[in-house]
Formats: sequence, structure tokens, C-alpha cells
Amino acid sequence: MSELPKARIATASLAGCFGCHMAILDIDERLLELMKLVDVDRSPLTDKKRFTQRCDIGIIEGGCCNEENVHVLHDFRRNCDVLIALGQCAIMGGLPAMRNAIMHSDAPLRECLDEAFVTGRYIRNTTHNVPNDPALPLLLDEVYPCSQVVEIDYQIPGCAPGGDIIFDTLSKLLTGKFRGFEREMIRFD
Ligand code: SF4
Repeated sequence: MSELPKARIATASLAGCFGCHMAILDIDERLLELMKLVDVDRSPLTDKKRFTQRCDIGIIEGGCCNEENVHVLHDFRRNCDVLIALGQCAIMGGLPAMRNAIMHSDAPLRECLDEAFVTGRYIRNTTHNVPNDPALPLLLDEVYPCSQVVEIDYQIPGCAPGGDIIFDTLSKLLTGKFRGFEREMIRFD
């Protein structure tokens, strides 16, 4: 494996809980094996905020809940040959997308913000305003999975996907051996 030229990967966390990035660390000692195959470019793991060069693989955690998420996702699509949606938030919207479906509401986003900042049982907000500083990214009407914003090449399911399936998929993709997932690797526990 170590004789192959190194690939370049990048990762991003959009609307998610960062659990999928933590799951990457669950690869444990095999990370050393993986690091023989890849250099990590833009990523929270390196704290690089911009691409330094084109990447072979981009890994996305989380869906799109605001305009910044959309911008980052387009940036990854432009700069990566292969784009992987990692985890249910990236694939289907996951937990953040629960705000899309507040029952009996004509305006789920408004109701969600009111509950979070104004009317919630444990909220003490003397202004009764929802934060609206121009520096805050504009929220989207709904939370969108990545595939509704850009073309996604592969999806690694799970919440969070286990370290085994992440390692197996990446190492096979990097060595040209990926033929799909083994059935027993797909779990949601
Ligand atoms: S899929 Fe699960 S672990 Fe990953 S970001 Fe979403 S909620 Fe977190």
C-alpha cells in the first residue's frame, strides 16, 4: 500500500454534530496506515481553511442549513475529483433536518428560531429578538442533504459511520479496489 503515490484528501463539517469527524478517529491505529496513502489538505483535522491544491477525495459531514454550508459544498465539488457524503446528515439531512418537519406549522424555520431564542421554556432573552447580526450566515428555508446541492459520488451511511467502514471504504477507494459495501458493515447502532 505504501508504494502508491499519495492521494490528497480534504474534509468539511457542515450542519452536523462533528460526530462523523470523531468517527474518523475511530479508525484508531490504522490511521497510520491510511496516512501512508494520503496527505490531508483543507480540513478541521489540519485546521487549513482553504484548499492549497486540487484534492482526489473530499469528505463531507453534515447537510446544508445555511448559505455558508452551500458555499463550502460547492467549493469542495469544484476542488475534489471524488466527493463522499459521510453519515446520515450529509446523506439525508439527519437530525438537523428535523426542523423541516415541525408539525402543524406554516413556518417551521420561524417556529424553530422562536423556540430556540424567544419562547423556549429555559430561554431568558430580554430583547425577545432572534439573533440577526449580518455576520451570521443566512439560514436556508430547509436543511438540505448534500446530494440536493451538488453531485455526490459515494455515500457512507451511519450515524455516525463506524471507523471500520470509513477505513475500509477509503483504503479501497485509494487502491482502486472499492466495489461497494459488505452487507454486515452497514449498521446504524
Ligand atoms: S450523521 Fe450522526 S454523527 Fe454524523 S454529523 Fe450527523 S448526527 Fe452527527
